[in-house]
Amino acid sequence: MTLRNVIIVGSGPAGYTAAIYSSRANLEPLMIEGHEPGGQLTTTTDVENFPGFPEGVMGPDLMSNMKNQAARFGTQFLSTKVTSLDLSKRPFKVSLENGEEYFAKALIISTGASAKYLGLPNEKSLIGRGVSACATCDGFFYRGKQVYVVGGGDTALEEATFLTRFAEKVTLLHRRDSFRASKPMQKKVFDNPKIEVVWNTEVNEILANDGGVYGLKLKNTQSGEVREVKADGLFMGIGHEPNTKFLNGQLELDEHGYIKTKNGHPDTSVEGVFACGDVQDPYYRQAISAAGSGCMAAIRSERFLEENH
Ligand code: NDP
Repeated sequence: MTLRNVIIVGSGPAGYTAAIYSSRANLEPLMIEGHEPGGQLTTTTDVENFPGFPEGVMGPDLMSNMKNQAARFGTQFLSTKVTSLDLSKRPFKVSLENGEEYFAKALIISTGASAKYLGLPNEKSLIGRGVSACATCDGFFYRGKQVYVVGGGDTALEEATFLTRFAEKVTLLHRRDSFRASKPMQKKVFDNPKIEVVWNTEVNEILANDGGVYGLKLKNTQSGEVREVKADGLFMGIGHEPNTKFLNGQLELDEHGYIKTKNGHPDTSVEGVFACGDVQDPYYRQAISAAGSGCMAAIRSERFLEENH
């Protein structure tokens, strides 16, 4: 049986920060990176809001820097996925896709959340070139442009409102004729002269060339009519999915599937299991807030190990 002090599941800013802190505390953490090491930031280009980089930094570079920093202090990495966990007793059993099994005295879950996409064939390859799922991250690049946002929930309406700080015009596309977003958010949108709401409309196709997105084919869900519009950007606001299915109901989750943590601490419903980053945060979803919560998870796990050795 391979017993480790700390196993960190998931590799984004939260997981890497937890790894930096745990390895500097001599806990020799093992990180299970998953198949997309680095998480959501590896699919972005410029990151301009992470402190310490006055000229900005490329998302993939930021992630590989964090990984190298964690490696420098002795974090061990495995590029595989967790297939199941047994949280019923300590040490916790961690079964991996490659067939290996490990045991952990403390666990840190930092598996993130994935933005939902429409499922159009070219959408993923256009991320960073006109397609985005994060207005806070990418809105700045759309100064004076024509942008479209898809969705009718709070995320879409918030993204649309935020984008009006930069874009010349924001068009909100919704597949039905009423929003599910909260009433105050709806009022903000209806009162904003820069936002046009287009009901009963889906995106059929994203039109792009070497320079990125230049237009969209939109379909009216009632009449079936398809029309082409000029667009510089398309923002997905159709929700996020926290990566918690592999927990198999062993940790308490909220109604949207995010891990419940306690009173601003990374503690979960199982003692010795800590959660950080977007997997427990439907609200801020930023690299810097994820990194901060990764630090907290590492410090909590360190204290837990001191108290329960
Ligand atoms: P929601 O599930 O609430 O909304 C998703 C929206 O996307 C819906 O309008 C849905 O349409 C639409 N949609 C889903 N799939 C597709 C698709 N394939 N094509 C076109 N449209 C699609 O997700 P949110 O992320 O908006 O919100 C999740 C939770 O987080 C909510 O409880 C929300 O209130 C909360 N939240 C709160 C915020 C705040 O308080 N500031 C900010 C952001 C989120 P349809 O309506 O037809 O199903």
